Amino acid sequence: MSKCAICNGKTEKKLVSVTFKRYGKEFTYHNIKVKVCSNCSEEFLDGPTITKIEREIREKVFEKAA
Ligand SMILES: [Zn+2]
Repeated sequence: MSKCAICNGKTEKKLVSVTFKRYGKEFTYHNIKVKVCSNCSEEFLDGPTITKIEREIREKVFEKAA
């Protein structure tokens, strides 16, 4: 079982909507898998998920610019 990096509380998996601000714009993604602390409510995204979203945002931004 994983624990919260901030308060060491219990975390549970959840699907949420997350907004990323990049390049002066906002990108909202739905059904993102996160771990949420049941104690302090902090949300944690895992590394591969962040990497994937960052890449998608970059592709969107640079496709539009081209
Ligand atoms: Zn916590």
